[in-house]
Amino acid sequence: MLQITMPLNFLGTVYREIRQALVDMAEMFELLDQPAEVQDAPDARPLAVSGGAVELDAVAFGYEPERPILRGVTLRVGAGEKVAIVGPSGSGKSTVGRLLFRFYDVQGGALRIDGQDVRGVTQDSLHAAIGVVPQDTVLFNDTIRYNIAYGRDGASQDEIEAAARAAQIHDFIVSLPEGYETRVGERGLKLSGGEKQRVGIARTLLKDPPILLLDEATSALDTETERDIQAALALAGEGRTVLTIAHRLSTVADADRIVVLDAGQVVEEGSHAELLARQGRYASLWARQASEAEAA
Ligand code: ADP
Ligand code: MG
Repeated sequence: MLQITMPLNFLGTVYREIRQALVDMAEMFELLDQPAEVQDAPDARPLAVSGGAVELDAVAFGYEPERPILRGVTLRVGAGEKVAIVGPSGSGKSTVGRLLFRFYDVQGGALRIDGQDVRGVTQDSLHAAIGVVPQDTVLFNDTIRYNIAYGRDGASQDEIEAAARAAQIHDFIVSLPEGYETRVGERGLKLSGGEKQRVGIARTLLKDPPILLLDEATSALDTETERDIQAALALAGEGRTVLTIAHRLSTVADADRIVVLDAGQVVEEGSHAELLARQGRYASLWARQASEAEAA
């Protein structure tokens, strides 16, 4: 008996680990579209997070040598600060997120978290420090409980529910006949875009990362749902450093600071009011989006 169960248990563990790893990667690829190409340095240490300050120091990067994407981007996000990166599509916003995760290494300058160059820390500790809410949350063909609990191994039901409450999805879940045991995903209950994003937020909250990266987290939603999810995200960001990447400016107007990226460079930086008063790039983007919204 022992001879049979031990290998099976072992295989079960390995299988779960492999599945977890694949799902991890699938989710990141989904968000960031890119494979991990870097490896831990031989003397890599775990990231020691003190507050989750993020610092880009003259970062230069291109996917291909002949085509620079970021051309000396300097950006400081203090611990607990909410900073938005906006700019036209293709300007390099998501690339900043990919570099933060160290899916690629910078080619010039440096990227640091709480003063530590991301090239010197273990990727496990780096990834544990950053929670991502992508444009579309991927749900697994499993229960809602599993889908949230995936944010952290060994989470208790109380912790799962607390995360769901904070993401404002708990009441919806318990209204379902099977509650947290409801199966979702392709073969289960189809959730709306907004409900999926809330599950994604709950999953991220359970992970409890000091840094939150929101990459177009509400851009696939209708305006009303977007407003609701925005409120859940604001709550989720409390006590964390938040980097919001957005194309739609109406979603970032209340950030502490807005950074306008264009063709791989920071062209403007300030609060919404400051940037409007400057009547520059941001103000014209704002005016254009406002008139588009009116026309729609
Ligand atoms: P944004 O998020 O601002 O829309 P991205 O950071 O995703 O822009 O992309 C910036 C530029 O880099 C785009 O022109 C995009 O086509 C290019 N790019 C993104 N990923 C790759 C890649 N793997 N290989 C080559 N070019 C890429
Ligand atoms: Mg993008």
